[in-house]
Amino acid sequence: MTSRSFKIAVLAGDGIGPEIVGEAIKILKAISDKKDVALELTEGLVGGSAYDSCGEPLPQATLDLARQSDAVLFGAIGGPQWEKLAYSVRPERALLGLRKELGLFANLRPVLAFDELLDISPLKNTIARGVDIMIVRELTGDVYFGEPRGISTDSAGRRRGINTMIYTEDEVRRIAVIAFRVAQKRKKNIVSVDKANVLECQELWRKVVNEVARDYPEVSVRNMYVDNCAMQLVRDPAQFDVIVSTNLFADILSDEAAMLTGSIGMLASASLGDKHALYEPIHGSAPDIAGKNIANPLATILSVALMLRYSLAMPEEALLVEKAVNEVLQDGFRTKDIFQEGKKLVGTEDMGEETLKKLANLLK
Ligand code: NAD
Repeated sequence: MTSRSFKIAVLAGDGIGPEIVGEAIKILKAISDKKDVALELTEGLVGGSAYDSCGEPLPQATLDLARQSDAVLFGAIGGPQWEKLAYSVRPERALLGLRKELGLFANLRPVLAFDELLDISPLKNTIARGVDIMIVRELTGDVYFGEPRGISTDSAGRRRGINTMIYTEDEVRRIAVIAFRVAQKRKKNIVSVDKANVLECQELWRKVVNEVARDYPEVSVRNMYVDNCAMQLVRDPAQFDVIVSTNLFADILSDEAAMLTGSIGMLASASLGDKHALYEPIHGSAPDIAGKNIANPLATILSVALMLRYSLAMPEEALLVEKAVNEVLQDGFRTKDIFQEGKKLVGTEDMGEETLKKLANLLK
């Protein structure tokens, strides 16, 4: 008898999306078969492929499916064939629409330097070794959404661009709570990144984060200015456990941190709200390699691990998926993006298959 069941919406999207999601689904099914849990997977259209079949990148049916699910597994969207479409129906609108409609205000990006891949990091091995950071990015506030915004022209014909950096204390508090909860499950160490020395909005961020900190005395907190954090990430990244920051700063810092590991094909992400969650690799649809069976599926497989941990209450299985990925790398299997001489070059499907074999062993 299965005691637990979860509904998962599978939105593979465009480009390499269907290839990488296909491998991730095999991992989910293996867990569902072995464990006392029923995972009901339902596919939905999203992005350019949804536009081609029904004229919009985020059809109502897909949104309904996502709303009714315990978690969304998302591949990637976009491609050159849709770049000339009106902004309102571009594939990328689907992701923004999902974030907004599902209230996904927290973006979690683990940055993990696998020992086996240290040589492809642009940093020296001695600096990249041991990097295991969780970046918690606020996703629905800040200059990206603040009003007023726009470009206006004065009477002399001079243009003026304006965006508004704005945070309410409630917005800061809810992302800070997520960061502290994440830290509780890790090394209990948070760095909150801001620019409180020059921006009032950021001064409020710092105050509210420090207020929330009082409820989590077991977690240590440091406040760090964003310029210093950008420098520390390349000087001594292993000092960080959890980094929490605003939408704009964390957007930039997370891309910087992603490069510590050497490949975009290895990095997973989770976007969380009060009721919903979406899991996806951080990379895009990689149209240049789509349909060639060379894309790295590991970022999507690692996104499944995050789903197990944060939405399906299966932290042990999450660890097993991460372990399986580690073992596959230790055995020398590499897709093209992480390939080095002396290793075994494999395609998307074989990489998925090897990971599945390792996981099956670990699940025994
Ligand atoms: P991209 O992330 O798709 O690709 C950047 C480079 O990384 C390419 O050379 C690609 O081949 C490589 N790459 C990406 N994922 C890989 C993987 N799993 N394995 C091996 N190599 C991989 O970014 P881009 O080229 O700037 O954008 C392509 C399309 O993706 C655009 O339409 C863009 O709007 C869209 N996009 C979507 C998302 C998303 O769906 N979340 C995110 C970023 C970009």
